[in-house]
Amino acid sequence: MKVLVNSEIVERKEVRVDIEDRGYQFGDGVYEVINVYNGVPFTLKEHTTRLYRSAKEVGIEIKEEPEVLIQKILRVIERNDMVNGGLYLQVSRGVAPRAHQYPSDIEPTLIAYPLPYKEMKHTRNDGVSVITAEDLRWLRCDIKSLNLLYNIMIKQKANEAGVFEAILIRNGIVTEGTSSNVFIVKRDEIFTHPANNLILSGITRSKLLEIFDNNGWKCNEQEFSKQELLAADEVFVTSTTSEVVPVISIDGTQVGDGKAGSMTKQIQQAFSELVKREVTKRG
Ligand code: PMP
Repeated sequence: MKVLVNSEIVERKEVRVDIEDRGYQFGDGVYEVINVYNGVPFTLKEHTTRLYRSAKEVGIEIKEEPEVLIQKILRVIERNDMVNGGLYLQVSRGVAPRAHQYPSDIEPTLIAYPLPYKEMKHTRNDGVSVITAEDLRWLRCDIKSLNLLYNIMIKQKANEAGVFEAILIRNGIVTEGTSSNVFIVKRDEIFTHPANNLILSGITRSKLLEIFDNNGWKCNEQEFSKQELLAADEVFVTSTTSEVVPVISIDGTQVGDGKAGSMTKQIQQAFSELVKREVTKRG
């Protein structure tokens, strides 16, 4: 595997992480996962825009212009002969003697490399079970930061419970999954948490909002409660790598008729068509 480290592409085994890299010591950095379809990165512009925004919010100055970073990402895809899979992109604040505060001349560390392709066909067709958990994360969930400790703890709980994801609840309100956004369908209307500081504004989520608009499907970016989640006709979660995944059981309670919902299936279909269109246009 070929890994981009700043401006160089090196073999995986040649990469050395400095023990004083703040990404390693503090989780002081930001990241993205971009999906590659047939060698073409999907929504690359949106992901790089979000990366620069996250970096800006935590005071990391990415040295490259976005266009240069995009060229580097394309090089990683090409050098690895990537066909399908995720592309991981991380910018840490850089290396400095360990202290909470950092020097003003610190240089960010950029890395990018391919993640293996995950087959999700059955997951998307059959739907998944999830659990709920309290959302005890900080109040800047809009930043895609390397600090994923609470997300990891809860995802591990879900994993140990044998389910796909945990849906987080803050003060009785459904925010998002540990690594996904959450949508419900009630009487043919779609609901999802507003994109504020309590959730990550998912790229998949944004693309779905465009699809809903284009199809005249009513979507409310509005808070909804755990009770409303449990009583929904349909529930689905979205992310770059999983796309649109039907939820058929929550905390052991069946959702709707316990099968992937018909609206969810239409949304999956529309999303696949959008991906196909976008990757052929750019390919
Ligand atoms: N929320 C969280 C906490 C996430 O980690 C992710 C995955 N990046 C998402 C939502 C979904 O975002 P996207 O559609 O951009 O992958």
